[in-house]
Amino acid sequence: MGYLIDPKETIEILNKYKFVFQKRFGQNFLIDQHVLDKIINAAEIGPDDFVVEIGPGIGTMTQFLCEKAREVVAVEIDKNLIPILQEDTLKAYDNLTIINDDILKLDLNKMVQERNNGKKIKVVANLPYYITTPIIMQLFEDHIPIENITVMVQTEVAERMQAGPGTKDYGALSLAVQYYADPYIAAYVPQNCFMPRPNVQSAVIRLKLHEDKPVKVTDDKKMFSLIRASFNHRRKTLVNGLTADLGNIYTKEQILNALKKCGFKETVRGEELTLEKFAELSEAL
Ligand code: SAM
Repeated sequence: MGYLIDPKETIEILNKYKFVFQKRFGQNFLIDQHVLDKIINAAEIGPDDFVVEIGPGIGTMTQFLCEKAREVVAVEIDKNLIPILQEDTLKAYDNLTIINDDILKLDLNKMVQERNNGKKIKVVANLPYYITTPIIMQLFEDHIPIENITVMVQTEVAERMQAGPGTKDYGALSLAVQYYADPYIAAYVPQNCFMPRPNVQSAVIRLKLHEDKPVKVTDDKKMFSLIRASFNHRRKTLVNGLTADLGNIYTKEQILNALKKCGFKETVRGEELTLEKFAELSEAL
């Protein structure tokens, strides 16, 4: 299985179809067996799984997913890749559906209801770097039944997702991801594992979605508005950051009272606060 992982085969397929790489779709195809194994292992794909792959490219990873999973849906935005997948690289698999669409426009909830009886799916992707965060956040916020998301992302993004309070990488993305999931960096991936080589280092991160949210808040949108305001002004104290962005909603006095109620110092900064503390503040305001 998995003949495409040989770079020579990849070049041959690309030449056969006169494929032209599209920069706007962030196309860097994997050509390293070791990295593929790491992704598949991290995703813990088994014979009962329904897997959605975002951006199959020429199908290198898809072949492995089809071998391991019960059913695979691969969503690819570039119409020029569809004939390669359908007529060539993936034609042997009858447990696969290829959809030519933008993942951000697809109603995944409907698909999971119709095709997997609403049961949890797994998501696997080697994502274009510029849309990593919007895609992951949309998967979370649409409340799609998902067990885990295993994605290749830019190393800095993976580290920000996994960061804890008081570190330089800690920010709104860390808190947003950790509210929905438990992040684990499964591998660091050098540039020479892709064709063409990207300009940045990559990492594979697995996000295991929480059964129950780690904090309970009445209004999570409100909590995230506090988090964003606080990290929009990293150099400011929390009270000044919140006043700068949310001064039209809360007075400085209300914010100071809420900090006091939570037992925080007036000089506290957002980067010191855990998710639990932001939840406490959200309830207090
Ligand atoms: N999975 C392949 C691999 O590992 O070799 C390709 C990875 S490449 C980094 C990203 C893929 O995502 C490309 O095939 C690209 O066309 C596709 N893509 C980009 N934006 C997309 C979107 N919004 N929805 C679906 N696919 C997308």
